[in-house]
Amino acid sequence: MTEFEALAAARLAAHPWPAQALAALERLRAGGHQAYLVGGALRDVLLGRPGAELLDVATDRRPEEVMRLFPRIEPIGIAHGTVLVLLDGTGIECTTFRREGAYADARHPDDVEFTTDLRADLARRDFTVNALAYDPLSGVLVDQHGGLSDLARRRLRAVGEPLARFREDALRPVRAARFVATLEFELEPATRAALGGVVDRARLVAPERVRVELEKLMAARRPSVGLELLREAGLLELWMPELARCQAVPQNRWHAYDVYTHSLETCDHAPPEKAAVRWAALLHDIGKPDTRVERRGDGTFYGHERVGAELAGCLLQRLRFAGALRAEVVHLVREHMFDYRAQWSDAAVRRWVRRVGEEAIADLFDLRIADLLGNGLKTGFPASLEALRRRIGQVLADSRALRVGDLAVDGRDVMNSLGIGPGPAVGEALEALLEEVLEQPGCNTRERLLARLAGLRAARAGTPDGA
Ligand code: ATP
Ligand code: MG
Repeated sequence: MTEFEALAAARLAAHPWPAQALAALERLRAGGHQAYLVGGALRDVLLGRPGAELLDVATDRRPEEVMRLFPRIEPIGIAHGTVLVLLDGTGIECTTFRREGAYADARHPDDVEFTTDLRADLARRDFTVNALAYDPLSGVLVDQHGGLSDLARRRLRAVGEPLARFREDALRPVRAARFVATLEFELEPATRAALGGVVDRARLVAPERVRVELEKLMAARRPSVGLELLREAGLLELWMPELARCQAVPQNRWHAYDVYTHSLETCDHAPPEKAAVRWAALLHDIGKPDTRVERRGDGTFYGHERVGAELAGCLLQRLRFAGALRAEVVHLVREHMFDYRAQWSDAAVRRWVRRVGEEAIADLFDLRIADLLGNGLKTGFPASLEALRRRIGQVLADSRALRVGDLAVDGRDVMNSLGIGPGPAVGEALEALLEEVLEQPGCNTRERLLARLAGLRAARAGTPDGA
């Protein structure tokens, strides 16, 4: 064992693997069977990165056996031999050792060929840094493809002959882009050269699988690095043609970059933990190629936010994104052009807040800031953005009561003041108070609303059927 391997083994041995997962490995190994930790969790521990929640486990046991061994399982990828084993507070994705089958449709192995040979299983894995296996019970670390030295050099390299491996499964180039961006690795030259050799095969890859990788890619510090690799490979054109065609679309004096580069820069500057803002940042200007009109030598793009919102919706739908995320992104793209002027009346601010929704405001600000940082001119923030933030704060504070729940009195106050029991009349009284407060936000104090209720009681007492 080299010093280097010893260090890696020590690091893995010192890691606090969940006790439940260790017990599961032990159970899998009973009777002379094999079970190893593999995949991203090993890689991330060795890199000192926060690990994934699910551990990947490889075993010689068949899926049916794994299902019999554990009471709580989900056969999530049974066709490929993968069973999700649910443990207290954690879970493992348990996959039976496989060897590479023939990938006729570039989507799934034609026939999954199970094996009891760990080495064959590691050889079918995508990248060397993903092809390690570790047994935390014995401390054995298997590194058959030089993954440890690639980890140390921060280098992503295909296992085996890159082009052949990419053509077997054309998702692998997308995974390459994802890993290069998230791990901030170099792409080994021969692996890089093979990226472009799969466009014909890539059409056959299920969009859901592409989406999963893109979602992970977008959480990188700089997604642009991965997106550029996809463009280089001709895959951006295939999966996000709306974005790819923004290349070389010139802008105007407000921008140093063409629309494509500006989109990538904006994306990099959006907060990584806000997926919707990241996607909106990437797609916010995809309506520009359709709306560009040249005026006095400068590009104008009237209405690009509406065209862009529609295109963004189609793109995300095609890649099978969840409806909720799609709706958020479409909304942000559509509203990203807000243009605040000091002359806006309070009513105008309130109308804008109501249109975009209070919950979207912080995201729209994040998007605008990313947009400004992404213009390449280093112009700083316009004072108007801070001014709008302050105005919104004031207007919201003044008109706090936008819902019945925000009133300074509640149903109990209404029942006490009016001397009535529970019933529809309570809600009606609250609605009436809300109407008044919306007109005059200053009325929303307990004192004034109780006085108003006393007035209501007096009015009711004056009517023949009053209580
Ligand atoms: P993450 O931290 O995102 O889970 P990961 O490397 O564990 O990263 P998974 O998609 O969970 O990625 O896959 C687990 C392992 O299975 C990988 O590390 C790799 O060894 C192997 N693998 C996954 N997808 C492929 C593929 N398309 N081709 C070959 N091997 C793959
Ligand atoms: Mg994983």
